[in-house]
Amino acid sequence: MKMIFKQIIHSAALGIVVPGMIFSALAGFSSGTAQEQKTEEPQQNLNKPTEKVSQVFIPVLKSDGQVVQMDLEDYICRVVLGEVPASFETEALKAQAVAARTYTLRCVLGGDKHPEGAVCTDYRCCQEYREPESYIRSGGTLASVQKVFDAVTETAGEVLYYDGKLIMATYFASAGGTTEDAREVWGNAVPYLTVVSSPADDDAYNGQTVTFTAEEFQTRLGVTLKGKPESWFGRVSYTVGGGVDMMRIGGKLYSGVDLRGIFDLRSTIFTVTTTDTSVTFETRGYGHRVGLSQYGADAMAVLGSGYKEILYHYYPGTKLSQYDPDTD
Ligand SMILES: [Zn+2]
Repeated sequence: MKMIFKQIIHSAALGIVVPGMIFSALAGFSSGTAQEQKTEEPQQNLNKPTEKVSQVFIPVLKSDGQVVQMDLEDYICRVVLGEVPASFETEALKAQAVAARTYTLRCVLGGDKHPEGAVCTDYRCCQEYREPESYIRSGGTLASVQKVFDAVTETAGEVLYYDGKLIMATYFASAGGTTEDAREVWGNAVPYLTVVSSPADDDAYNGQTVTFTAEEFQTRLGVTLKGKPESWFGRVSYTVGGGVDMMRIGGKLYSGVDLRGIFDLRSTIFTVTTTDTSVTFETRGYGHRVGLSQYGADAMAVLGSGYKEILYHYYPGTKLSQYDPDTD
């Protein structure tokens, strides 16, 4: 994979210096609604010179099955546009950009998700991806696109390293108060994916409930249970990060991660209440809760934290640096 990546760089544009990344990022941004709305913004903003950065191309598997070679920064602009609201604080957008860039390069260098492309545009598999034209057609503004693209450009080329290697910069929407240790979710301990507090994102995605009839509950679980629902639930253990570790249901043990998948719960932080005919889950947080909390990052930024502080909080022990292809 590494060799393939290096060949791509060499064949595409190794050594080429891009004079204006934002202009490049907005290439093709000249038809339909986007063009009509361009008059709202001073034209020179789109073409302003930015820091010179060596161009890196990555293979991106689009939703139509085509694999296209994209400039890394163009791709990251579109990931950030899709991943978080443009209304986020700029420092939170910058933190998201660094996380997404690091995640992307790590996938390119060592990933095996897609034989035909290093990263895809499906958020359920890799990362969310949004073209600015589509964003504007659905009600977004050019000013929002510009804000996101500027934030990405301000961090151009910056990635996170741990022990000299690109980190697996996982992220998610909201921690519900505390992030989770990678070992609790994926089984492998990762030194920089440990439990950290995320108190400021508390209001996002907390207190969400989902109710199943007793029949639906048993169908999803694939079991037949006797008695009233309140009698089905036994002992619960919790992870260090506050999620459900194991829960006994009908005499059988289930992991919180498995239950989250079976019942499509927003996170593994949940409580269960029952009636005679139903089971209700109430969740806190949204996502696997390992790594950077997007809403937590925004909350930190609102309170005055810069993007480096945010990244070092959610990925403890890592180091922010310009990407160096020779280190991997
Ligand atoms: Zn993918």
